[in-house]
Amino acid sequence: MSFSAILGQTKPLTLLSRAVGSGRLAHAYLFTGPDGVGKTTVALDLAAVLLCRRPQALRPCGSCPGCLKLQSGNHPDFLRIAPEGAAIKIDQIRNLKKALNFAPFEGGLRIILLEDVQTMRREAGNSLLKILEEPPADNLLLLVGNAAGGLLDTIVSRCQVIPFTPLPLPLAAEIIRGRKPELDAAGSLALAALVDGCPGQALTLEADGVLVLYRRLLDELVTEMASPAMRVEKALALAAEMAESKEGLEPLLALLRIFLKNTLAARTSATCTSFVPEVMRVRERWSLSQLSAKIAAIDLAEQALARNCNRSLTSEVLLLDLFDCSTPS
Ligand SMILES: [Zn+2]
Repeated sequence: MSFSAILGQTKPLTLLSRAVGSGRLAHAYLFTGPDGVGKTTVALDLAAVLLCRRPQALRPCGSCPGCLKLQSGNHPDFLRIAPEGAAIKIDQIRNLKKALNFAPFEGGLRIILLEDVQTMRREAGNSLLKILEEPPADNLLLLVGNAAGGLLDTIVSRCQVIPFTPLPLPLAAEIIRGRKPELDAAGSLALAALVDGCPGQALTLEADGVLVLYRRLLDELVTEMASPAMRVEKALALAAEMAESKEGLEPLLALLRIFLKNTLAARTSATCTSFVPEVMRVRERWSLSQLSAKIAAIDLAEQALARNCNRSLTSEVLLLDLFDCSTPS
């Protein structure tokens, strides 16, 4: 299989490689596990090798008509169904049913990838169940979902379930760093911890611009500023940016907490070689009680956000605390 680029997930990959190699694929698989651990990536790679006309050692050749059509997004025997809006709708499943009335166009296997199947309501789920109960020949259904619990039991029982698990943090960090080479080892490890070993989630954060803002915040935070007035000015300017970061505010707070906790650990640990330079710059400057107060300020901000308090005000209060503007120093 072309799984060479996929790190981790050894168990699912072994199961699937064996099934493909022996020609004994189930008619439907359900890949379950948290978001961002590679379920869809593996499903796409499986489709690629199965639709290739000249696969070698379970790898797609990349140049046959099957490969070229799939790469261009025009393979008639590859159907990809994702939620329209919040959920996969019943009409989408009805259309799928119609498509399955015909044999695959290219005479081989047709592959149907259904993403985020946990979003299906009962009606759509029951319609899909009908397909799974009488699967038409030469079709392979790949269901991808982030929690089997949200699916009809009857659907789960009709599929071969392949669980995907979060990756060990060093491996998740390696994947993140492969996509974000500007991160240093400690930064990518902190990010891997933040997303609980699901590297795909870290890349989503990146797309939202959270990491860029975090870096700038951190740079300012560790810079010793000449006057209290300057600290207040910086804090308020950054708070305004923070408040605008819509989905990113909560992850940003989580990153800041990791940084402060690492600083706390660095103050109390004898060996401190594994900490990022920013930690080393502030670990002597901030006392233990200051650090605890800053972490408590983050807790308060998170609680305020959970209660839908004003985001601007919450960001301002937090950053004034983090920049030591509320206390004389
Ligand atoms: Zn090929």
